[in-house]
Amino acid sequence: MNSLEIQQNLYNIRQRIEKAASVYDRNSKEIQLVAVSKFHPITAVQAALSHNQFIFGENRIQEAKEKFTPLLEINPDIRLHIIGPIQTNKIIDAVKIANVIETIDRVALLDPLQKAIDKTGRCPKLFIQINVGQEPQKAGIMPSEANDFIETCIKKFGKKIQGIMGIPPVEQNPTPYFQQLTSFARQYHLPEISMGMSADFEQAIACGATLVRVGSAIFGNRPPKL
Ligand SMILES: *Cc1c(COP(=O)(O)O)cnc(C)c1O
Repeated sequence: MNSLEIQQNLYNIRQRIEKAASVYDRNSKEIQLVAVSKFHPITAVQAALSHNQFIFGENRIQEAKEKFTPLLEINPDIRLHIIGPIQTNKIIDAVKIANVIETIDRVALLDPLQKAIDKTGRCPKLFIQINVGQEPQKAGIMPSEANDFIETCIKKFGKKIQGIMGIPPVEQNPTPYFQQLTSFARQYHLPEISMGMSADFEQAIACGATLVRVGSAIFGNRPPKL
């Protein structure tokens, strides 16, 4: 994808978000677009930046660090979301670089997270990832354990817990899964709901998404490796 194609794609996605918001009676100002730049080169991010896209999502902390550390020096307005599973020993790097960590998904992560916050004096917003499809290959707390986990997180981190994130199983109607994510968020009065990707973000908006994470529809198919 060249810069012009990325611009065109961004324009189209923003139009589709506006349209979905109006069709489903949502305020489009309450829906943020997270441009998922994983595996795409820094030039792709720069192209999006030049078209006023400031919120980005990355899966791998090492890749996020390498790509975004230089970009953040020039563009302090960038907001980086970590959207991939986090190894315990990487949590400190995630806390250092992210504005939002969307993938808090297990009790074992909580003490290291607290330590990283204390050590860096920095605290990203935190979302809890729920494995709504109960898929063994996916990260996220299982729905049956989610209530206990969310309550533990809120007790420990209070208002820093801002939202729920999830990924429905592929090749199924995502709507019931989106609804389940939304009902967890409502139950705990969490303002943010991160759900919906290139293939299904309009349905996610219909179900209450406040952030949609769109990668390939903006940047094209992912190269196998950076
Ligand atoms: C890769 C990824 C996305 C973006 O997926 P697309 O289908 O390319 O839009 C969104 N969320 C997560 C967690 C991802 O890993």
